[in-house]
Order: sequence, then structure tokens, then C-alpha cells
Amino acid sequence: MKVADNLQTIKDTIAKACVQSNRNPEEIRIIAVTKYVSIERAKEALDSGVVDLGENREEGLTAKWDALQDKPTWHFIGSLQTRKVKNIIDKVDYIHSLDRLSLAKEIDKRANRRIKCLVQVNVSGEETKHGVAPEEVRPFIDEIKQYPNIEVVGLMTMAPYTDDQAFLRECFKKLKSIQLNIKQLKLEYAPCTELSMGMSNDYRVAIEEGATMVRIGTALVGEE
Ligand SMILES: *Cc1c(COP(=O)(O)O)cnc(C)c1O
Repeated sequence: MKVADNLQTIKDTIAKACVQSNRNPEEIRIIAVTKYVSIERAKEALDSGVVDLGENREEGLTAKWDALQDKPTWHFIGSLQTRKVKNIIDKVDYIHSLDRLSLAKEIDKRANRRIKCLVQVNVSGEETKHGVAPEEVRPFIDEIKQYPNIEVVGLMTMAPYTDDQAFLRECFKKLKSIQLNIKQLKLEYAPCTELSMGMSNDYRVAIEEGATMVRIGTALVGEE
């Protein structure tokens, strides 16, 4: 399938989700997750009108960045080892996986500008998932204040892989409610206006529940 055709299907689905939830599709940013695919395929995505690319590993990000430079807006979406921060910090526009203070400290140290970060939240409590526990988000963000190179632009979650729509909806609602609580604090360093949630399997529900960034790999660029 051409990326352009997949993109059209996704935009149609987004439009329906927006009608359902009284939202404006322009508030939603589609991040093409290119971790499974070639540089050629990533280029095809950009040619189809995609602006945002996401990678979950340092190696993948670096390889794609070498080819595409700063043409796309780059999102780092995977769990990030502290020692790898220095290799990606000058290449990324957003880091979606801020999940511990040691990582915040390293980002702050290595950055020569303010980095837009999203705090990853483990909403479902699955043990295999990274992320801050829901009740820890507020104290975690309080601590981030000491790192002037970090701006908390929003929250991110990965929902469990399931077809249980009601359960997914609960997860997304929970993240949205935490996000609103932080946003209402009006912290200068943590505007927290973004909600990065929704993947190939669940982006429609995520949008109905307020996602502003969806991270779509398989359904947009495929898996190889
Ligand atoms: C791989 C990945 C995605 C995209 O997954 P698909 O199911 O292929 O759409 C989104 N977010 C993160 C953090 C990922 O690692």
C-alpha cells in the first residue's frame, strides 16, 4: 500500500472520530512511526505530506536523521537509556518518553536549548510498561522544575494491546484527566497541553478521548 492511501484512510477515520467527539481535526498531529521501515519509505511518508516522524531507538533515529536531516519534525518515542541521550539530543524536537528523574537530569545537562518533553505515564499499571504511575505524575513534574532545559509539553501513554474498547477508553480518559490537572496549575515550565496517545490499533478511541498526537506505524507506513 502507498503511504498516501493509508494516510487518506487514517485522515478519514480521524475526521469521523472528531465528528463523534466535537473536535477539530487540525488539533491532531499524525506522527508516522518509521521504526520498522526503510529510509525510502520514510521519504515516501514525507512526500505524502507527513511532517512528523517518530523513532523508538537511538540507532533508528540516527540512521534516518543522517538521511533526512531536519526536514521532518522528529519525535523520540521509545524508552531512552541515559547514556544515549547525548547521541540524540541535537536531533530531536520532542521526547515522548520522559519517565524518570535521572533521565530528566541527563537531558537537562546535554541540551543546549529547551527540549519539549512528554512525561510517559503507565496508566494501566502493566508491569512490562515504562512510565510514571498516575499518582506520581504531579510530584514528578514538581521535581522537573529544577531542570531549566526541560519543558513538559504534555503526557504520553501506551495503552495495553487489546481490542477491549471500553478498557482502552478508560485508559485514555485517565490520562486526559491527569493532563487537565497539570495544565490547570499553569506552570511556566509545564504547560502540558499535549496528549500523545493512540497507535494503529487504538487511535480512533484515543482521538475521541482527546489525543493531540497519534503515533502510527503499521497502519500508515507498514511493518517492513
Ligand atoms: C511502535 C510504536 C508505535 C506505533 O505502533 P503501531 O502499532 O505500529 O502503530 C507507537 N508508539 C510507540 C511508543 C511505539 O514504540
